[in-house]
Amino acid sequence: MLKEKNTLLQEKYPLLINGEHVNSETEQFFNVYNPATGEKLAEVAKATRADVDRAVASAREALENGKWGRWPASRRGQILNKIAQLMRERFDAIVELEILNSGKSLAAAKGQVMQAIEDFELYAGAVTTIAGSTKPVPNGFLHYTTKEPVGVCAQIVPWNYPLMMAAWKVAPALAAGCTIILKPASLTPLTALVLADLCEEAGVPAGVINVITGSGADVGAYLVEHPGVDKVAFTGETTTGKDIMAKASDTLKRVTLELGGKSPNIVFPDVDLEAAVNGSVFGIYYNTGQSCEARSRLFVHEDIYDEFLELFVEKTKKLKLGDPLQKDTHVGALISQSQWDTVDSYVQLAKEEGAKVLYGGKRPEGANFEQGHWYEPTVIVDVTNNMRVAQEEIFGPVVVVIKFKDEKEVIQLANDSIYGLAAAVWTQDFARAHRVTSQLKAGIVMINNPISAFPGLPFGGYKQSGFGRELAIESLDLYMETKSVISYVGQKPINPFGI
Ligand code: NAD
Repeated sequence: MLKEKNTLLQEKYPLLINGEHVNSETEQFFNVYNPATGEKLAEVAKATRADVDRAVASAREALENGKWGRWPASRRGQILNKIAQLMRERFDAIVELEILNSGKSLAAAKGQVMQAIEDFELYAGAVTTIAGSTKPVPNGFLHYTTKEPVGVCAQIVPWNYPLMMAAWKVAPALAAGCTIILKPASLTPLTALVLADLCEEAGVPAGVINVITGSGADVGAYLVEHPGVDKVAFTGETTTGKDIMAKASDTLKRVTLELGGKSPNIVFPDVDLEAAVNGSVFGIYYNTGQSCEARSRLFVHEDIYDEFLELFVEKTKKLKLGDPLQKDTHVGALISQSQWDTVDSYVQLAKEEGAKVLYGGKRPEGANFEQGHWYEPTVIVDVTNNMRVAQEEIFGPVVVVIKFKDEKEVIQLANDSIYGLAAAVWTQDFARAHRVTSQLKAGIVMINNPISAFPGLPFGGYKQSGFGRELAIESLDLYMETKSVISYVGQKPINPFGI
C-alpha cells in the first residue's frame, strides 16, 4: 500500500509530440493496470496513424533543422548528464511508478532504474568519442570521414524492462544526434513517458523526442513502415522482430533487433554448489522470469544432479513472493492475465510432453495472491531438449532441468536452439570455462556469475535472438552513418579522361 500518491502518477497521460502534451486525434485513451493487484492505475492516450504522422513530421523537422544533431557533442553530453541528474533526484518516485505499472520487485526495479541512469551517464561521456578518420590516398587527394546521425529513429520497447529498455535506446540515439519517436509497450508506458518529460526538462529541444502510445500491431507497425523514419530499434518477441524486419525492408531502414531467448545455464560437477545454486535460482527467477536473458534451460551434470536439484528446490522455496513494494520481496507478479495463461499453458504442456512438475506450477495460495497475476516459481524435471518447453520462450518463473553426461554433449544441447542470447557456465575449472564459452553460440556468456549486463558492455544476441549490440559505447555506431569524403587538392586541374 502506498503511503501517499506517487508524484509522477497522473490520471491521464497524453502523447508527447513536438514538445507538447497532446491528446490523440480521436481523444481516446486506454487503461493501464497494476499487475500485482489488478487495479486500474491510469489512462494513456491511444494514438492513431495520424498521430504517428504528426510525431514523425516533428522528429523530421527537428532533425533537418539541426536543432540537436549539429550542436557540439559536448553540449549534448551536458544534457544527457542533466537527464541522469533529474532521474537521480526523482529516483524513488520513478522506482515506485515502475513497480506499480510492472509488478516487479523493489530490488529489481531499483537496479533497473539505476542502470537507466548510468546509461545516460555512459553516453554523456561517450558522446565526445564520436569522431571521423582519415586514410592515406594518392598524391593530390585528401580523404576524411565524418559521422552523422542516422536520422529519425523509431524506438519500440517491451513491457518487461519498461524504463531500462527505453534508456538503452534513447541515450545512444540522443548522443548520436538523432531524433526519436519512442513507442513503449501498451501494458507499461508510464516510466517511458516520464523519461521523455525529463529529457525535455533537461533541455532536449522540442521535437527531438516524441512519444506515441497505443497498439503495437497498429501504430507500431505503421511507424516501422513510415517513409519518414530512417531507423528502427526494436526490443521484443522474435516473431514481432521478424515482422518488423519484413516491414522495414520496403524502405530499407536500418534495423537493430533485441529479441527472445532460451538461455542455457550449464552446471559442471566441480562447482561451488551453494554459489551455483544461488546464481541459478537468480538466473531464472529474477524479474519473475520475464527476462530475455533468463537462464530457463538448466543443464546439470549427472554426478551432482540429485544433490544440486535438492538444494535448488530448497532455495526456490525460500523465495518470498508478495507486495512488490516491500524490500524483502524476491519475486513479483506476472505482467498480465494473458501472460499468466501463457505461462500456465506451458506448465500443462510440459506434463503432456512427459515431464514432471517438481515444484510450483500454479497460483500461490493465500489471500494476497487472489488478485493480480501471481505464479509460483516452478521447477520442471524429466525434460529433454527437444520438448517444446525446452525450445520455446515461456517468459515466466519456470525452469526446465536437463541432465547431461559430458562437455561435448552439453555444448551440443546448449546450442540446439533457435535462440542465442545468453548462457551461463558454472565450473571451478578455468580452462573448461573458457573452452566451453568459446563454443557457445550466445551473445553474452556468464562464468560463475548470474549478472548479464553492466553499462558499457555489449548486450545482444546470436541467431534468432536478434542482431546489433546495445548498452556499449560501440552501440553509438548503430545510430550514425559514416560519410566518406574524397577531395582533390592537386595544383593541376583534374582531368581523368584526359580530354
Ligand atoms: P512484443 O514483441 O509483443 O512487443 C514489443 C513492443 O513492440 C511493444 O511496444 C509492442 O506494442 C510493439 N509491437 C507489437 N507488435 C508490433 C508490430 N507488429 N509492429 C511494431 N511494433 C509492434 O514483446 P513483449 O511481449 O512486449 O516483450 C517480451 C519479449 O521481449 C520477449 O520475447 C523478450 O525475450 C524480449 N526482450 C528481449 C530483450 C533483449 O535485449 N534481447 C530485452 C527485453 C525483452
